[in-house]
Amino acid sequence: MTDELLNKALRVYPDTLSLLKDGWPTPLVRLRSESREGREVWAKLEFYNPFSRSVKDRPVWNMLRKALETGLGKPVVYEATSGNVGIALAALCNILGLKLRAFLPRSPPPVTVKLLEILGAEVVETQYESITPEFWRWVAELAEKEGALNLNQFENDANPEIHYETLARELVEQLEAVGRRPDYVVAGIGTSGHIYAIYKRLRERYGGSVKVVGVQPSPGSRIPGIKRVETEPKWLKSVELYALYDVSFEEAALGVVEVARREGLLVGLSSGAVYRAYKKLSEREGGGTYVLVFPDDIFKYVDSVHAALHRH
Ligand code: PMP
Repeated sequence: MTDELLNKALRVYPDTLSLLKDGWPTPLVRLRSESREGREVWAKLEFYNPFSRSVKDRPVWNMLRKALETGLGKPVVYEATSGNVGIALAALCNILGLKLRAFLPRSPPPVTVKLLEILGAEVVETQYESITPEFWRWVAELAEKEGALNLNQFENDANPEIHYETLARELVEQLEAVGRRPDYVVAGIGTSGHIYAIYKRLRERYGGSVKVVGVQPSPGSRIPGIKRVETEPKWLKSVELYALYDVSFEEAALGVVEVARREGLLVGLSSGAVYRAYKKLSEREGGGTYVLVFPDDIFKYVDSVHAALHRH
């Protein structure tokens, strides 16, 4: 039945979970406005993932799958989240018949709360300022005490694992299909799951010729999804970064606007930050093949990007 129904080439799927697994690879697109003689720029569009419309569908699915495989059989999931992980998890819990209790930091983005509620998750607003180790450890302990499942994207190796097996592998295959070899990859850092996986696979494939560049919010700026490296994301210590760029909220928002106006793509704030970092990098480095990872799209951030546009 499933095989009959699945027609990947024509994009016919037997159920919504297949939209994720059989929807890969996400597109890799050349940015024409930035490509010229001696320089080529490619963007990996992670908002083509179906649930949170972000890079986070991949690790949430893998962490959940692994937890269910171990037969823990817990019907409720507790997770500390303020964004894409919560949305992906709420969606996947619905598909898999689980319940989600999402623990959010103080004053969470209103859109996230609305999306979680629409998806049927129970939302618990806490007094934590942001998602710190103290916060996620508290949620992990509570889950343990109350017999709930806790995935913890910050510590769970199933997070980078799936990026290595899918996202990073797709990048290599897609670039090789068009006869390209990457010189620079620019990516944001949150848990460090995807930048680490890309670093690992591309280094294995291309050796030291590929330079991985990280992007973090500048001091005092908040850019949803990415964090400063002082927060010591678990896998970053295994990455040799070629450069690390600080990008302010305003720069990220204006990056979003620039991508929209030049390429017609409505990308999210961390993508805008990646784009700004790429601009700084390419001014310094000049030519080469650049790959930018765009983690999500604009729709959760429309108001804040629009407000930034009007301040300038
Ligand atoms: N951008 C956005 C919008 C995200 O949701 C995330 C995930 N927190 C990231 C970037 C960073 O990804 P990672 O956790 O793999 O470092």
